Amino acid sequence: MSIGGRPANANAIERVVIVGGGTAGWMAAAALSAHLAGTGVAITLIESSDIGTVGVGEATIPTIRRFYAALGMSDAEVMQACDATAKLGIRFVDWLRDGQSFVHPFGRFGQDLKGLDFHHYWLKARAGGDPAPLGDYSLGALLAAEGHATLPAPDPGSQLGIFDWALHFDAALFAQHMRRFAERTGVTRIDARITEVALRSADGFIEALTLDSGVLVEGDLFVDCSGFRSLLLGEALGVGYEDWAHWLLCDGAFAVQSERAGPPPSCTTVTARSAGWQWRIPLRQREGNGLVFSSRFQGDDAAREELLANVPGKPTMEPRKLRFTPGRRKAAWAKNCVALGLAAGFLEPLESTSIALIETGIERLKQLFPDRDFDPAVIAEYNEQSGEEMERVRDFLILHYKLNGRSGAFWQACRDMAVPDSLDAKLALWRARGAFVRYRWEMFSPASWLAIYAGFEDLPTRLDPAVAGVSDAQLTRSLEAMRRSLRDTVADTPTHQEFLEIMDAAA
Ligand code: FAD
Repeated sequence: MSIGGRPANANAIERVVIVGGGTAGWMAAAALSAHLAGTGVAITLIESSDIGTVGVGEATIPTIRRFYAALGMSDAEVMQACDATAKLGIRFVDWLRDGQSFVHPFGRFGQDLKGLDFHHYWLKARAGGDPAPLGDYSLGALLAAEGHATLPAPDPGSQLGIFDWALHFDAALFAQHMRRFAERTGVTRIDARITEVALRSADGFIEALTLDSGVLVEGDLFVDCSGFRSLLLGEALGVGYEDWAHWLLCDGAFAVQSERAGPPPSCTTVTARSAGWQWRIPLRQREGNGLVFSSRFQGDDAAREELLANVPGKPTMEPRKLRFTPGRRKAAWAKNCVALGLAAGFLEPLESTSIALIETGIERLKQLFPDRDFDPAVIAEYNEQSGEEMERVRDFLILHYKLNGRSGAFWQACRDMAVPDSLDAKLALWRARGAFVRYRWEMFSPASWLAIYAGFEDLPTRLDPAVAGVSDAQLTRSLEAMRRSLRDTVADTPTHQEFLEIMDAAA
């Protein structure tokens, strides 16, 4: 409740200052302005067009659609504004061995038969000689593999019809779309370079930012979205960085845009290369490509050449080099500063988790929005949740490297590395029993873990004894019926290109 436009709580935050106008900054501005509407809280965003943004980050996971839906935006609107295509999953090429590929879809596999999770029946069939891969039982995976796309039916009728989807979009256009919303809902934008961060002498809280124009911007809560530099949390407040480079060996990338090479696939393609992997992200007007590599195993020139030799369309720019240290800030929130996006940490681009972590960071900030007393209990909870979530994502990414079957020094080092205990426990249970350890704050569901285990052909050593309750004949009939039903559904859906035209007509 507000009195005369002022928050009723005398201790309430009145001024939020967001530093940075990349994807993180404008997502935070849009979501916080919607969340705090009518409270009288003033939101200011400072960005420097001289410095610019990181300019990558074009693949998402389905949570992005929930994020913009909460702001009243439709899929069709966002897709048109951001040159976006549909992403039904990620196609992994050559990660296990040359010539092998599989799709990690968004959603489930198969249909329960007599109460056990589907994969137990699939494993039984496989043990009996049935070669059908797990992906044959996922609508999302099949649509992605065939280059088709459709909207999930609101009432799919059976478990076989359940899947989800995300977007590939132009990161700059998405930030602009968020900016339009934020400015419409009252966020003030300042284009200037921050030259100084002033801390309060009493407690070291951030008091004000000095701009290159000489203007001073004061605030109560500061949201650091300044990118890898982490201007407030890292530099001004001195929060250290937890380096995970011993688990995630990739620390560099070259990114290049290219002309479209044929009809857009409805998935991201990630192909294993000599010391890392290459992404291909189809947009409507162009494609985004990049090579992620480990500088310990490949030099810049070789990485750049390997990328350019494998870009499907004609490059439209010089490749841009990016460097990163996989890891996270030891705390995402210190004193009166919360970091989001690259300022809070970065693992690597695989599985497109960085924008999703921005969404969950914003959501957590909304749930735990502080007063000006910045109660330590609130800060501790925020940090615990974000720390755990980041570790769970880290483990999921490590899994992809650990299970590879490729030759070469980089891939051998990935296979040989000791993994975190939390991942070891997951792998051990999966191999022993085909079951999933579930920790708190998992971004990826068991279906995603299953997709990776099965895609890498890392299967449990024993079958669940209860699968014996379904006879071989019954199992063969059921699995064949599922595959037929899914094939028929895929044949009835539009191609991805047709789907984009349908979405445009709806915008
Ligand atoms: P930035 O885009 O770097 O923005 C920083 C902002 O701070 C800019 O506006 C800048 O002007 C401002 N700033 C900095 N210093 C100052 C100053 N002194 N004064 C004023 N303003 C300042 N994520 C995904 O989810 N999917 C992907 O496919 C994906 N691919 C990636 C590939 C690579 C190679 C890399 C490196 C990252 C990728 N990411 C991906 C991560 C994604 O790019 C970022 O999470 C996302 O772009 C958010 O960046 P940001 O807003 O935190 O930082």
